[in-house]
Amino acid sequence: MTQVLVAGGGLAGAAAAAGLAQAGMAVTLIERQAEPVHKICGEFLSYEAQSYLEKLGLDLAAFGGAPISRMRLVRGETYVETALPFQGIGISRRKLDEALLQHAEKCGARILRGRNIRSLDPGGALKLDVEGEGVMTPETLLLATGKHELRGAKRAVGRQQDLVGFKMYFRLRDQAQAALSDHIELIFFAGGYAGLQMIEDGIANLCLLVQREIFQGCGAGWEPLLDDLKRQSPYLAGQLQDAAQAWPQPLSIYRVPYGFMHRHRPGDPAQLFRLGDQACVIHSFTGDGMAVALHSAALAVHMIQGGGQAAAYHRRLARDVSGQMRRANLLSSLLNHAALQPAMFGMARLWPASLKKAAALTRVPLRAQI
Ligand SMILES: Cc1cc2nc3c(=O)[nH]c(=O)nc-3n(C[C@H](O)[C@H](O)[C@H](O)COP(=O)(O)OP(=O)(O)OC[C@H]3O[C@@H](n4cnc5c(N)ncnc54)[C@H](O)[C@@H]3O)c2cc1C
Repeated sequence: MTQVLVAGGGLAGAAAAAGLAQAGMAVTLIERQAEPVHKICGEFLSYEAQSYLEKLGLDLAAFGGAPISRMRLVRGETYVETALPFQGIGISRRKLDEALLQHAEKCGARILRGRNIRSLDPGGALKLDVEGEGVMTPETLLLATGKHELRGAKRAVGRQQDLVGFKMYFRLRDQAQAALSDHIELIFFAGGYAGLQMIEDGIANLCLLVQREIFQGCGAGWEPLLDDLKRQSPYLAGQLQDAAQAWPQPLSIYRVPYGFMHRHRPGDPAQLFRLGDQACVIHSFTGDGMAVALHSAALAVHMIQGGGQAAAYHRRLARDVSGQMRRANLLSSLLNHAALQPAMFGMARLWPASLKKAAALTRVPLRAQI
């Protein structure tokens, strides 16, 4: 029997597997992708996320990521900018997730790749149907399948479900790349926002979220959507002028359950720990989803080592991140409100320090970090 099984080898799962292996525990991780893949993400790595990865032993300097210490908030033709309260890094998830998975293996975790977990027995027992492995019955299960629902362990709905997400890489012309250097740009438009930042190798990541009905109103196509956004934001149009798109179509994701927070209920398996996006989903504009995922992994490792059970872990995780989640939910409803968005933007222009404050208030708090 496998003692500890991690389902999913994204950041949360791989970090937990590395941490458990470093603590001398036998752990098996199952990841359905056989090879590194691109993931939909703004790829802004906040300082808490960096600190968790460095504690696990990853050398982030070796990735050649793009340093980011300033934020530019854009609406239409105008923008306001401020220093971030910390230094972030732009790194591709394809590179980062792969490096962490390999690191977990080096630490002693058993990694099985290219195996899809088909389902979890909904009866309450920890019984998984795994492609190529048959039925697996671990004592402890860390569910880290991220955005993907596992049959038998579906998440509850989020607070905001109407956003569609897209990610596209671009090679910008020199002038636009120079303007973007050291910045993350958050570009607001009717019904959504986009994040634009550099990652490694001179690539710019454009990641955006838009209300489903607006996307459908644009004919549900990438090119018409992008044209519409450029019309709304001449600034974005300028940044993307003569830019070369990396792929014919973007990566996309529907119905991200923003604001979702798992609550352990009586009757839930005592040894089923949900990590990362399976535990909570924070709004993407915070650029802190990876930090929350890594925090959940570090907390689970800490509690499993101490003999703790899933109920206590989920209570503690909720206590650690519910403040930042609440503030992110509130900011999101203000920023997505057609009438309030201009007022919020006006306030940021008058008081740029409010942006810095908002960035600080939507992070995993220092006191909670393991
Ligand atoms: C549009 C958007 C932009 C974002 N931008 C940022 C940002 O800039 N900064 C930031 O910090 N966060 C950002 N986030 C959030 C961040 O991407 C997530 O919080 C983070 O990826 C969660 O990590 P995870 O390990 O829980 O899940 P994932 O990264 O989704 O990993 C889950 C893994 O499980 C595997 N898996 C799934 N199902 C199965 C199965 N059945 N069997 C086996 N394996 C399986 C998958 O292949 C995957 O490797 C963004 C999110 C979105 C949607």
